[in-house]
Amino acid sequence: MSKTFKQKYPLVWEKNNFYIKIFCSIPNIATGIIITTEKATFIVDPGDGILRDLNKDYDASKILQISDIFISHGHHDHIGGVWSLLTYLSVMRKKTPLNIYYPKGCLEIESIYKAFVEVYSHELKYKISLKEIDNSKSFIRKDISIKPFKVNHREPLDDGINSVEVPSLGFKFKHNNKTICYGGDTAFCDELIKMANGSDLAIIEAGAENDIESDLHLTIDQATKIGETAKEHFLVHVPQ
Ligand SMILES: [Zn+2]
Ligand SMILES: [Zn+2]
Repeated sequence: MSKTFKQKYPLVWEKNNFYIKIFCSIPNIATGIIITTEKATFIVDPGDGILRDLNKDYDASKILQISDIFISHGHHDHIGGVWSLLTYLSVMRKKTPLNIYYPKGCLEIESIYKAFVEVYSHELKYKISLKEIDNSKSFIRKDISIKPFKVNHREPLDDGINSVEVPSLGFKFKHNNKTICYGGDTAFCDELIKMANGSDLAIIEAGAENDIESDLHLTIDQATKIGETAKEHFLVHVPQ
């Protein structure tokens, strides 16, 4: 695949009532993903625009059913829509609880939550629970089992030479014997290779700026090789 590869959005996949739609995933702009089953409505990485995208497909009653949000890491293109989503759910009078799963050490989510509760606690009708993740233990929500796993994502320091680790997760979701592996943002990572392998769908970032392997993102070649170990795969987060 050439480096001029451009992914088209949205990307949709469905097997055995296990449905996923990637509204978009563009580095430095936004990612936004919804997963639904018979019983579950989950959001993964609500970047900017998530409300607009949800509103195109669903009415408010469906959006109010969102019970769980999964955050791969705190970069703005993955969490930019959190504040407006939480506010919308409040304005529309959501009453059922909401869990937000995020990697331990992700200050962005904790700060947004703290500020949000400070501003809206007087009118908030639904309970928000922050669920910090610092291990790879599987758990079940609604009719989906979720296995978080650590990935290897970094951000450049101001000196332009060094980089620093960002608390980052991928998630493997399982429903009706089908599995979806979402790697979030990551450079080459053994854990992602293990988790993507044999998945029904692997969603792999190819965020590297060029063909040179880096410690920030995967190249298209790296991402394609990992994706091809799954039954189907999508390359996302490709620079445009
Ligand atoms: Zn990103
Ligand atoms: Zn990132």
